[in-house]
Amino acid sequence: MQEDQKNIVSIDRCKNYHIDTVRASLLNLLKPWGGIATFVKPGQKVLLKPNLLAAVKPEEAVTTHPAIIRVLADLIREAGGIVFIGDSPGNDSPEKTYRITGMQAAAESSNSTLISFDRFNKKDYYSNSNKYELELAAILDEMDVVINVAKLKTHPLTGLTAAVKNIFGCIVGTKKALMHYDFPLPRDFSRMLVEVYLAVKPELSIIDAVIALEGIGPRKGNPRDAGLLMASPNAVALDTIAAETAGFKPEQVTTLAAAREKALYGTYLSEIVTSGLSLAESRIRNFDMGTAAEGKIGRFIARFPLAWCRGWVERRRPYPIIDPQACNGCGKCRDDCPAQIISLVNGVPDIDYSGCIRCYCCREFCSRGAVNLK
Ligand code: SF4
Ligand code: SF4
Repeated sequence: MQEDQKNIVSIDRCKNYHIDTVRASLLNLLKPWGGIATFVKPGQKVLLKPNLLAAVKPEEAVTTHPAIIRVLADLIREAGGIVFIGDSPGNDSPEKTYRITGMQAAAESSNSTLISFDRFNKKDYYSNSNKYELELAAILDEMDVVINVAKLKTHPLTGLTAAVKNIFGCIVGTKKALMHYDFPLPRDFSRMLVEVYLAVKPELSIIDAVIALEGIGPRKGNPRDAGLLMASPNAVALDTIAAETAGFKPEQVTTLAAAREKALYGTYLSEIVTSGLSLAESRIRNFDMGTAAEGKIGRFIARFPLAWCRGWVERRRPYPIIDPQACNGCGKCRDDCPAQIISLVNGVPDIDYSGCIRCYCCREFCSRGAVNLK
């Protein structure tokens, strides 16, 4: 692939998840690079990495839709590749997650192999002269090609979760929650997310925004019919375009701010060539950006480059509060809080706010939508 083709972002209309519609759209989407065969050679092992945040049904728009995985797997097999589908779900067991999200059925109907990320290899990286360690799924070293298949959703910490953040799932199991503890501020957490992306460096990233998730993402938002598929070999450029379609400026998405700080190519629109639909044709009108990392004031201040402004805002981001009416006392938030500061009192979570790092994992883990932000 020529260097200038790496910064193309392809956008196509995809009205629904019918297999024929998805296939036609994916074929269109990959045309700028000459189809899937540009990324996959016969005999290569290919990992499809969807967003499988939790064991929820596809219609909730929390996870990558199985129809997209199924069609991609078919296309890869037709190109001679051997397909593996895998993730490291943080909320539920891989078996339950694969069954309920439709991944098991997608794997069966496309003769693909489901894998879960249990073993890891350690990889070092350096930031501001400090050495850090990533525990990346060992299976990645056995793959020839990684294709990142993300979902477009709002996120309280990063603003938006799309292609770059989806690669965080390559960190094995509960280590993901612990990394929130290591990097409590959104900007530091996002710098780490960018390092994970660079360590994995998928050959191709695709965003499922056929039905996106707006409002209170990434788990309890509202499905939004956006009718879009987007793709690029450059996940940063892809996220920049995805952010624009949803109404975010790139600097309002903390992963893109971190990528820009690291001078990665693709955080400015001027660096990106779009193919297929234009940006104007792709805008998702009145997308509910939800309670993004710093709220409305933060989104305003995020436009200012001064570091102290961002630090001031980050320290004022909201705290989680429990809605006792919605809570069923399951204890999941208590068990998985990275700071271990939640106890159950009379069956209701009680948060010790003095130790809360505002990672919002409790909100992600809660299947009842009982954790709000204030
Ligand atoms: S807030 Fe949610 S996760 Fe926590 S105990 Fe209540 S229902 Fe369970
Ligand atoms: S209470 Fe929630 S937001 Fe606070 S540290 Fe625990 S999981 Fe994170």
